[in-house]
Amino acid sequence: MILIDGKKAAAELRAELKEEVAELKSKHNKVPGLTVILIGDLTPSQIYVRNKEKSAKEVGLKSEVIKYPDSVEEKTVLEKIQELNSDETVSGILVQLPLPKHIDKQKVIEAINPSKDVDGFHPMNVGNLSSGYESSVPCTPLGCYLLIKKIEPNLSGKKAVVVGRSNLNGKPMTQLLLKENCTVTITHSKTKDLKAECLEADIIVAAVGIPELVRGDWVKKNAIVIDVGINKTDNGIVGDVHFDEVSENAKALTPVPGGVGPMTIACLLKNTIDCFKRSQI
Ligand code: NAD
Repeated sequence: MILIDGKKAAAELRAELKEEVAELKSKHNKVPGLTVILIGDLTPSQIYVRNKEKSAKEVGLKSEVIKYPDSVEEKTVLEKIQELNSDETVSGILVQLPLPKHIDKQKVIEAINPSKDVDGFHPMNVGNLSSGYESSVPCTPLGCYLLIKKIEPNLSGKKAVVVGRSNLNGKPMTQLLLKENCTVTITHSKTKDLKAECLEADIIVAAVGIPELVRGDWVKKNAIVIDVGINKTDNGIVGDVHFDEVSENAKALTPVPGGVGPMTIACLLKNTIDCFKRSQI
């Protein structure tokens, strides 16, 4: 079985992006800029944002974090987004989720200029992705897609099963696989026989949030299995896939941690650079 090393893949992607940033700098005499808005003092969000800032600097991007207390008014955040929308040094804007309850998440997402929406959550980008047009793609499914393509460059005609239908993971993942001419089944909490669906799959992407939901006897021989889940349990962090059982059948499998996770931030950097490149045309 191939253990899909997300750490290594992410390091390779960051190295490629670093070179690209250097080339863009010599061509345009400026570098792509990523601005992250962080509201409140939730520890996981602070850690994510710190890692995003560190990685952005590593590849040579201009990186800025704007922090607000939990009590910040929605209006203040929306005004800041407008300011960043018209700031030419800012290529990508990301508002770290979750937001405090008094701030309307959808309003915030829709305030970001779609051409700077590095998370790919703006309805314009969601629509472009599902229409097969160029768009920013949410970072985690984009990372999964790049890992799958490393294992199997030609996905045409493959049967893919996506477990989970969130806007963050399952739905964009489905679109990416469709674009590659896979036959895609999207499954969710109301799916009647999840095991039977998974058994049909050449590729399974599990993004559910239930520890070790996908078992060894759900996976056909030589399937590629991508585990997006990050679940805290008494035995530490585990994915949505039962690693030991599934590794008996799968052709390739991502570990948790060290699989999809590291690719997410690398893809955020990629999205920022892609937004910059599109703005220079
Ligand atoms: P979500 O809660 O928004 O969506 C979960 C989906 O799973 C829903 O569509 C639901 O219908 C489906 N589901 C629930 N129970 C099910 C069942 N029994 N059978 C089949 N489907 C079921 O979750 P999300 O934001 O997509 O995140 C999913 C997991 O991925 C979580 O563990 C999260 O922590 C993790 N995650 C990882 C990364 C990363 O970088 N690796 C990024 C984001 C999320």
